Amino acid sequence: MRYANIIIDISHEAVDRPFTYIIPDRFEEMCHPGTKVKVPFGKGNSVRVGYILDISDNPDVPVYRLKEIEDIVLSQDATESKLIELAFFMKERYGSTMINALKTVLPVKKAYRGKKKQLPADDSVSSATVELNEAQQSIVDEFASDYDTGVRKTYLIHGITGSGKTEVYINMIRHVVSKGQSCIVLIPEIGLTYQTVMRFRKYFGDRVAIMNSMLSAGTRYEHCCRAKNGEIDVIIGPRSALFTPFANIGLIVIDEEHESTYKSENVPRYHAKEVALKLASMHGASVVLGSATPSVDSYYKAMQSDYRLFTMDKRAGMGELPSVDIVDLRNELAEGNRSIFSRRLMELIKDRLDKKEQIMLFINRRGYAGFVSCRACGEAVKCPHCDVSLSEHRSEGKLVCHYCGYEIVKPKLCPVCGSKYISSFRAGTEQIEDEVRKMYPGVRTLRMDADTTRQKGNYEKILSSFGNHEADVLIGTQMIVKGHDYPLVTLVGVIAADIGLAAGDYAAGERTFDLLTQAAGRSGRGDRPGNVVIQTYQPDHYSVVHAANQDYKSFYEEEITYREISMYPPVCNILAVMASGKEMNATLSLISEMATIVRQYNSKLNVIGPGSAGIGKINDYYRYVFYIKNKDMSVLIKIKDMLEKYLTNAKSEISVWFDVNPINPF
Ligand code: ADP
Ligand code: ZN
Ligand code: ZN
Repeated sequence: MRYANIIIDISHEAVDRPFTYIIPDRFEEMCHPGTKVKVPFGKGNSVRVGYILDISDNPDVPVYRLKEIEDIVLSQDATESKLIELAFFMKERYGSTMINALKTVLPVKKAYRGKKKQLPADDSVSSATVELNEAQQSIVDEFASDYDTGVRKTYLIHGITGSGKTEVYINMIRHVVSKGQSCIVLIPEIGLTYQTVMRFRKYFGDRVAIMNSMLSAGTRYEHCCRAKNGEIDVIIGPRSALFTPFANIGLIVIDEEHESTYKSENVPRYHAKEVALKLASMHGASVVLGSATPSVDSYYKAMQSDYRLFTMDKRAGMGELPSVDIVDLRNELAEGNRSIFSRRLMELIKDRLDKKEQIMLFINRRGYAGFVSCRACGEAVKCPHCDVSLSEHRSEGKLVCHYCGYEIVKPKLCPVCGSKYISSFRAGTEQIEDEVRKMYPGVRTLRMDADTTRQKGNYEKILSSFGNHEADVLIGTQMIVKGHDYPLVTLVGVIAADIGLAAGDYAAGERTFDLLTQAAGRSGRGDRPGNVVIQTYQPDHYSVVHAANQDYKSFYEEEITYREISMYPPVCNILAVMASGKEMNATLSLISEMATIVRQYNSKLNVIGPGSAGIGKINDYYRYVFYIKNKDMSVLIKIKDMLEKYLTNAKSEISVWFDVNPINPF
């Protein structure tokens, strides 16, 4: 006998209260997560419609108290069923309760209050539409011809910034909408600028809706209702826009598909690209991925012919690529320059201030968590087993590998060259700002980092103030390198390109390449030519060299070789199992127990760790992690299921969660 957990009133609020019913034998084959059913409900056994959330062999309630499913509803309107099926996929794939997965996909019911906010009318209704150039037209044509002949695929558009990708998306969407289907466009929150929105409004008028985190729950719910009722064709938003309840999706576009914000850091830790592919397969829709620096994962799949690759390597509008200097910081030290700015950068800053042009100084904060490197030779201290940098645990005076747990006492001299200039890099945005002010009296600076943007609205304020030329220099973390065009910016300085490179995880090279390429792309967007200065201790590192040349292909070739040799994604899959608890010994023993279970399950599995997490302790909670590598994702999912089962029996205070192909160090 099997049992179904059924939700009667399908809503975010109701998912905590599913009811268990018996599945009669005659319906067994037809019952899946998402199936719409009729059930007797309440004292009077009135017939209600509900949806199956999941199916189990052992009900939580005594069987004699259970009623049977009365009938299956075969409905045309399968929107809810699809969302439940999608939630089920997310629960299985990423590890989560069904309730958490459902809460992620279902909208919060909330009455819409207040006046309908209208976007300002656009007077120009990017007048004639933009005439596509040859590269753009041939992509749109191929897509349209596939679409018209019923071919559904995943397409990857590798197009340099400004090559006209957005225009391509718009034309693909117009085609799909003209055939009566809906489209979802994912854009990283940070790229959801007024200009982007207006470009879509121009074509789709009030049949496009925008989702972002600033909207009230009421407005979001209203958008969902309008989508469900067929009142809009296109939704634009960050990753959660995937869950817009469209009945009939024809195309999902993911712009800037390499962005790490497409990966959720909350349980279920889903990746929007994977969920989009699942959703597309459920609807019979296509997926278009676009980026100037595609993720290694997507490019690899394109090389394997899983995705159809399109390349756009010319700018559609104005602007030329800037000229780039790579400065070797080891030489600066050797020649007596101990400042955080190289001589070349200082000279260019002065030149631009004299010309009344603008400057961006960028420091990578990602992976700042204390790797140790040598200022004389540039080497970071690495794990001999994992080929990632060791991280400093200062209080214990140790260097630790976050994959395998390998640790050493922090050396006093560089293990490579013997220099005593070995330490963790500590320059932050504040220090850079102080230094700029000291060196160029009267200079007007703005600083953008986690501190200055904590207050709501400050992010926009800083950007618009810089855009109005109220400052000469903008200093910031990765927040300043994305989106936003400033025609007066003719110099971008990357203070220390290596910081990202040494982060203790396998994706460090990829992230650094993205950031450097994007940062370099900020300079010289207007009619004045731009310069970029990349300061680094590793001027020969492939991420640095190829970013300076804006050469994605060469970067990819080297990166994929490294992934192949070291067996990291996308060549292999990784399941991270993470535990956090107040008692150090109990947490460590639980994670060790789990690692042992996995090793006993199959002694041939590649199990790494357990070791202390990247941040070993947060708020007095100890954090440990271990990894399992396997080419076959289904093996990892089986292991996750097995551990989940073990955990339900071993109830404890320790929280455990899973991450499939993690992209941020834990
Ligand atoms: P991407 O999304 O690849 O960064 P966009 O679509 O934003 O590129 O295009 C960059 C700039 O070039 C925009 O100002 C856009 O209006 C302009 N543009 C795009 N396509 C064309 C075209 N076919 N002809 C002229 N200008 C174009
Ligand atoms: Zn050294
Ligand atoms: Zn290691």
